[in-house]
Amino acid sequence: MTEALPAPLAPGATLGILGGGQLGRMTALAAAALGYRSHIYCPEADGPASQVTPLFTQAAYDDEAALADFAEAVDVVTFEFENIPLRTVEILARSVAVRPGPEVLAICQDRLREKDFCGNQGVATARYAAIDGPDALARHLRDFGTPAVLKTARLGYDGKGQVRLEADSDPAAAWAEMTGGDPEARGILEAFVDFKLEVSVIVARGLDGEMADYPPVENQHEGHILRTTIAPARITPLVAERAEATARRLAEALDMVGLLAVEMFVTEDGEVLVNELAPRPHNSGHWTIDACVTSQFEQVVRAVMGLPLGSSDHHSDAVMRNLLGEEAAAWRAQLGDRNQKLHLYGKAEAKPGRKMGHVTRLAPRSEG
Ligand code: AMP
Repeated sequence: MTEALPAPLAPGATLGILGGGQLGRMTALAAAALGYRSHIYCPEADGPASQVTPLFTQAAYDDEAALADFAEAVDVVTFEFENIPLRTVEILARSVAVRPGPEVLAICQDRLREKDFCGNQGVATARYAAIDGPDALARHLRDFGTPAVLKTARLGYDGKGQVRLEADSDPAAAWAEMTGGDPEARGILEAFVDFKLEVSVIVARGLDGEMADYPPVENQHEGHILRTTIAPARITPLVAERAEATARRLAEALDMVGLLAVEMFVTEDGEVLVNELAPRPHNSGHWTIDACVTSQFEQVVRAVMGLPLGSSDHHSDAVMRNLLGEEAAAWRAQLGDRNQKLHLYGKAEAKPGRKMGHVTRLAPRSEG
């Protein structure tokens, strides 16, 4: 006998969101459009998400009393970034539905588990090895050759905790740089992939296992930070099919409820290698707000509320460009461009490299 699915949460219900950044902000806005309330939980005051809903708990992720009150106040919980402590999500999951669940978070917040998981699913990645110190690093470097990339297994994002190794690099210095002096740090060494381009696929998966994926998009990084997303990616239908099939297979294998973003390298000969998984809305999916029938943010709300997914069809092609640091100060000029949409995240301080907003330039849909 198959288990009955939990009933959908009707409009009026409250979505709990762990994390207070722009992804939470845009999720809360999409939830509001469907008649839901959102309750933000994060340690920071006046973040992008808590500006758009009156329901806000400012507390540490290990504050068990605050977590208990939060669980009581919401109907379901999701998270907007994957560096939320696993224990926080496990505590909440005892008393309220958390979608996606702690098992998904445990895999996606650890690069080693993530790559092992891909391997177990028959999904290709760069060659990699677990590294627990400078000796292991030196040994594997001899084996892998250079260039290679040493990454922190946990808590890395936007290139933080990453060191590129060349033939003359000193393993001990690279290890020290990667760990930042943290004695608990564990690393992963990856062979350098000489990729032609980077793509990502975002797939939504509902409570009933229904899936809806967006076309692969092309991502251009600068200094490890996403700069531009071109949608759809300029790849052949065969490569697009490979990328989509990979994302769907992983979402299925994770028993995902919500969104899975899969970042991939495409090599010169059309091979697709998974680089990273994100179990949440993704920066490379911001174009979907303006160019698709259903945005990634609406899809995640639909999925975690137990609703049917929407159409992920795109009616326009799009180029999304992040506004970093002081670039957002040019909002007046950005507003004047009639073919693009401006989105600002309400961040007060424009630190260099900080994602302050984005613009999406639309063009008529070019294919299929
Ligand atoms: P990540 O934090 O893993 O998303 O890496 C950030 C960026 O570094 C990627 O988007 C790539 O541009 C580059 N990168 C990461 N890993 C590799 C690799 N194994 N080979 C080549 N480039 C990489």
